[in-house]
Amino acid sequence: MNQYEYRHFLIRYEDRDDEFAREVIKTAEATYDILSGDFNIEPDTELFTLVICSDIEAFIRDTGKTAGSYQPWMVGNANYEKRILCILSPSASDRSDDEMLSVVKHEVVHIVFGKVSDKSPDDISPLISEGGAVCLAGQVDPELLDKNTRPDASNLNDEDYFYGNDGYNYSGAYMGFLMRKYGNEAYKNVYAEIEPLEKYLYDGFENDAIDSFRAFRGDIALERI
Ligand SMILES: [Zn+2]
Repeated sequence: MNQYEYRHFLIRYEDRDDEFAREVIKTAEATYDILSGDFNIEPDTELFTLVICSDIEAFIRDTGKTAGSYQPWMVGNANYEKRILCILSPSASDRSDDEMLSVVKHEVVHIVFGKVSDKSPDDISPLISEGGAVCLAGQVDPELLDKNTRPDASNLNDEDYFYGNDGYNYSGAYMGFLMRKYGNEAYKNVYAEIEPLEKYLYDGFENDAIDSFRAFRGDIALERI
């Protein structure tokens, strides 16, 4: 495996991912810097390990999953406590390089916000943790947001409901709208549980979020990368 140290990440990858790895490290470093600045979060001094897994077997091993807990849609993983991010090589999935670079941004969001809360990301509401990662990584698809079938934001706090109701896309739209309307500090405070999310929700919040995303057509924060 190749291994190189950069400012925030130590990247590891196999030869055949050489070209992709260059894009990955550029994206990861820039995302980390931009987010730390935008959300006023002090960067860590210790490096994070960023592994490009050449196949699904390596992905399962490096993420600490089991064959039983792995799902085919899982292509990235971040663990702040273990200080590791795993990205599946595009050669081992049906995703394009660009889609995978959005996954890199998504996982880096999880890593940056790992510092904001003492809780493990698994114990934070998926509405808040996944919603922030999805919108900041530019992964909201406005075409798939429907005011007639949309979930209530508060229902997306429940993990089972989240996965069964297009939780990634809607939570991304809701948290992106929260950032746009109330500012990054508001999102950070909600993430850290300094303020309750309910403080910012109101009747019509979800529909306003959907209108807002359709008007902006998606991505809000990381267009500079
Ligand atoms: Zn995520």
